Amino acid sequence: MAVGWEKEMRDLLGEEGLLLDSDSRERLSKDYFWYSPVLNRKLKDKSADGIVVPKDEKEVALALSFAYRHQIPVTVRGAGTGNYGQAVPLMGGIVLDLSRLDQIVEIGDGYARVGCGVRLGTLEKRAREVGQELRIYPSTFVKATVGGFVSGGSGGIGSITWGNLWDGNVLEAVIYTMELIPRRLVVRGKELYDYIHNYGTTGVMTEVTVPLAPRKEWTQAIAQFDRFDQAAQFGEALAKDETVGKRLISPVEWPIPSYFIPFVKVLEPGAAAVLMEIEDGTLERVAAIAGRFGGRIGHVIEAAQYRKSIGLSDFTWNHTTLWALKTDPTITYLQAGFSPEKYLDQIAQIKNEFGDEVLLHFEWMRGGGRLTPSSLPIIRYRSEERLYEIVRFFESIGVRVFDPHTWVLDHGGRGDIAGMQRKKAENDPLGLLNPGKIIT
Ligand code: FAD
Repeated sequence: MAVGWEKEMRDLLGEEGLLLDSDSRERLSKDYFWYSPVLNRKLKDKSADGIVVPKDEKEVALALSFAYRHQIPVTVRGAGTGNYGQAVPLMGGIVLDLSRLDQIVEIGDGYARVGCGVRLGTLEKRAREVGQELRIYPSTFVKATVGGFVSGGSGGIGSITWGNLWDGNVLEAVIYTMELIPRRLVVRGKELYDYIHNYGTTGVMTEVTVPLAPRKEWTQAIAQFDRFDQAAQFGEALAKDETVGKRLISPVEWPIPSYFIPFVKVLEPGAAAVLMEIEDGTLERVAAIAGRFGGRIGHVIEAAQYRKSIGLSDFTWNHTTLWALKTDPTITYLQAGFSPEKYLDQIAQIKNEFGDEVLLHFEWMRGGGRLTPSSLPIIRYRSEERLYEIVRFFESIGVRVFDPHTWVLDHGGRGDIAGMQRKKAENDPLGLLNPGKIIT
């Protein structure tokens, strides 16, 4: 394919710095937007004109300056595991694949400084080898990059203890602006808010420093309950119990556990399940708390087996939707924040209104210091109209919905858009960074 700028780009970055074949353009222009039938219809045919693959920060700056001169849109890509079409180039142009910026620069006491293309799974492994571990990471950690998580994610495993990305879980970032001579910014503190979950619209992140926690040993266990409300309440009690270290508390309504094919044979049919990562040595205490809500501990994976086989986190957060989709391809999902005070009532109202059309699972987490039952409810999809009827019902009973069926940051519930819009005008005056993802 001739894009007019092929030769100049090859002169800048060499043969392996530019991919123009249709397979690469197709593959590297997509993320996991297909979880949403709404997004799938609108995004499936979008593709970049070329994929630029810089090998270091210097080449990132060269590529950005080149794109500015030619006024070519640039959409950054980490591993492409986002769910909202964040990494899809709506207006063609360049996809800037940063997966080769994969150097772990430094692991210090309580922090790691890394290239944005480092995979979270790789960093977790290296950190654990030196007695530390990540504080938070998404359930896609094996593939997802640190830069992609900071720019497109929110929270995940560990968020029950450490909160989400905005809770001090990014310490510093190196950002390049989209200008004739891209500026290299080193951003810290509250200034990071203009770059966290920004879809790469306000700058291109090349290096990130994240805090690390001391390494703990994690037992994985499943508690089972006759009813989902019992499972959810147990989750709350465990979340509040400060004697138990934890990374994950995920209550799941039946029949969702029946979708977890690798674990079905060790699960009680018909029971709600709570998937947990708890500090080694606390199982007895956790069993006692479960007992208070009529629960019992079922399958346990000993701490010595951590990461040696498929783990329970592979069934939580948006991986729950993935397992459901394997059984029923018509399924989709929402993202919701239930009320910490009224969630039992909200569960009852949703079940009463929608029955099995909406299946619930929670991820207990802390956001801004507040304990919240966040949720990615599974929806049996009928139509876009019906989907938004469900959204309106959720909102009418005080459940906050962060719409995952839009690629526009402003519509997805991201806070402080005005600050990001100002930063975009400053750092990307021609509006070339991931155009269409933020309203300017
Ligand atoms: P990408 O998808 O490549 O990029 C994400 C966004 O950031 C895009 O807009 C991209 O343009 C931009 N971007 C990427 N790198 C940079 C950079 N260096 N500079 C500037 N912009 C950049 N998310 C969670 O938060 N928690 C979860 O638990 C979770 N679970 C998931 C489960 C499943 C099954 C799936 C499919 C997705 C899940 N996600 C989750 C979403 C996603 O996997 C994560 O947010 C992941 O961290 C994204 O990383 P990535 O490298 O794939 O980013």
